[in-house]
Amino acid sequence: MSIQDRIQQVERRIEAACLRSGRRREDIQIVAVTKYVSLERTMEAYEGGLSHLGENRWQDAESKWQALSEERLPEPEGGKPVWHFIGSLQSRKAKDIVGRFDYIHSLDRLSLAEAIHKQAERLGTRVPCFIQVNVSGEASKHGIEPGELLPFLEALQAYPAIKPIGLMTMAPYEAEPEATRPVFRALRELRDEARETSAFGQELNHLSMGMSGDFEVAIEEGATWIRLGSILVGKEEDEQ
Ligand SMILES: *Cc1c(COP(=O)(O)O)cnc(C)c1O
Repeated sequence: MSIQDRIQQVERRIEAACLRSGRRREDIQIVAVTKYVSLERTMEAYEGGLSHLGENRWQDAESKWQALSEERLPEPEGGKPVWHFIGSLQSRKAKDIVGRFDYIHSLDRLSLAEAIHKQAERLGTRVPCFIQVNVSGEASKHGIEPGELLPFLEALQAYPAIKPIGLMTMAPYEAEPEATRPVFRALRELRDEARETSAFGQELNHLSMGMSGDFEVAIEEGATWIRLGSILVGKEEDEQ
């Protein structure tokens, strides 16, 4: 299936989920996760209108980042890709990511916050970050525990080059997408609580949640960013 066909199919499903939940399509953005696919396929996705690109390892992202940073879409769209780092990040790798990626979705500890802050300060910039929360409690998942969120936000005030903009989570893989709903709902409730009680207040607007298998449920529960890989750009082995 072509990227254009995939985009259209996904769009229809997003719109249906918006209708079901009384949400506006423009309040939901797509990060096209290109970690599984080649540079060629990534360019095709970008040129097909997917301007937000997500990668989870710098080693794999580097060649795409280099090539696409030189790329410009023709007018009227214009511009360059917006890069999202969605993978777990070692503190010593923060210097590769800060300055190249526009958003980090995986801030999950203060040592990493410090590393991001230092590099951002050096570059004279601020980095919009999602705080990753391990809502499901699975040992294999990264993220702070829900009960740690408010003290974590408090402590983040020591790193002003970090701009917390919301929360991120990964639901466990479920054969039945409906089973992920409590995870997404819990993240939304946490975000609402943090908005009311933390110093970052209304800046904590966003929820990065929902992947290929569960994005419709995530939208119904308030996702503002969905991260779509296989369903949208495919996987390398599917490519003809
Ligand atoms: C790979 C990945 C995705 C996309 O996964 P799909 O199921 O292929 O859509 C989303 N978020 C994170 C954090 C990922 O690592």
